Amino acid sequence: MKALITELIWSEGIEELKNQGFDVDYDETLWTDRERLLEILPQYDAVIVRNQTIVDEELMEAGTRLKAVGRLGVGLDNIDVKRAKERGIPVVFARHANATSVAEYVLTAILSASRPLHLANSDVRNGQWNRKQYTGGELYQKTLGLIGLGEISHRVAKRANAFGMNIIGYDPFITEYDHVVSETGVDIKETLQELLVESDFISLHVPLTPSTQHLLSTPELKRMKPSSYVINTSRGGIIDEQALASALQNQQIAGAYLDVLEREPVLDSHPLLLCESVTITPHIAGLTEESQVRTSFLVAKEIGKVLKGERSLCTV
Ligand code: NAD
Repeated sequence: MKALITELIWSEGIEELKNQGFDVDYDETLWTDRERLLEILPQYDAVIVRNQTIVDEELMEAGTRLKAVGRLGVGLDNIDVKRAKERGIPVVFARHANATSVAEYVLTAILSASRPLHLANSDVRNGQWNRKQYTGGELYQKTLGLIGLGEISHRVAKRANAFGMNIIGYDPFITEYDHVVSETGVDIKETLQELLVESDFISLHVPLTPSTQHLLSTPELKRMKPSSYVINTSRGGIIDEQALASALQNQQIAGAYLDVLEREPVLDSHPLLLCESVTITPHIAGLTEESQVRTSFLVAKEIGKVLKGERSLCTV
């Protein structure tokens, strides 16, 4: 059995594949050379990607021996899952392996918005002692609005509870008896509009689909409190970036933390780079040392199961 890895993987994943008897070829930059990828793909039984390799009809057609696609993460928007299903190629993903890392990133963003220690520190280093300017605010009794109430939101809610935050949520696909609600006491709102109006912090945890594309655009941003922050660790495209840049420039909202953008890496000319109240990180919310060890090992292990014809709980 031969496996091809086209993007960054931790060594635990490669070792696990080898332990299972795979010949492994690994080139973390292969995703940038589509022509070469399509040329060599026919030799492999499995291809393992992260979020940059586009796994579409053309790629699956080229992979004449392909029996499984591995995704080192959870968002599947770079993979044509429907075509993979039609072709009988299981897609193995790192179910829940990086959810804690993303949840901790969200709490970091919320804490950083409330107590910007890094700004106070640079001020002190510039000879200042501005105690009033850095008074900050408490999280206690502030309202956190979670859009999408799946695995990551559940973990965010659990942690936000410890700070005494009021947690509200919007997700038309869950009921009051689902674990995020019954275990963490999230107050479900019937409409997105209610959540937008009431929240001090809004965090997005939905997949990118046609129904979530530009879920937050000008009308939604206008409803948010001028003192509120939005955090997007889900996918670029869920927030309308032009609309967000205008909302930040016009101080319709206080700030944004974006781990994901419609186009990654960000272009130098992007209007959001002119907004001081936005913090942009290079798609790292789920990328901690611990989560990557888990992700790499899990996908490798499950790819092995799939190729042996065994049942896997990490496939779509
Ligand atoms: P999940 O599938 O457990 O939860 C997603 C939730 O969104 C579900 O409960 C679903 O009902 C809800 N939803 C779908 N459409 C909706 C809509 N229109 N309005 C409101 N809710 C809707 O997924 P998860 O594990 O919580 O992950 C969420 C997203 O986070 C992933 O799709 C992925 O794109 C992203 N992610 C990013 C990183 C990163 O490093 N930045 C890491 C992991 C995951």
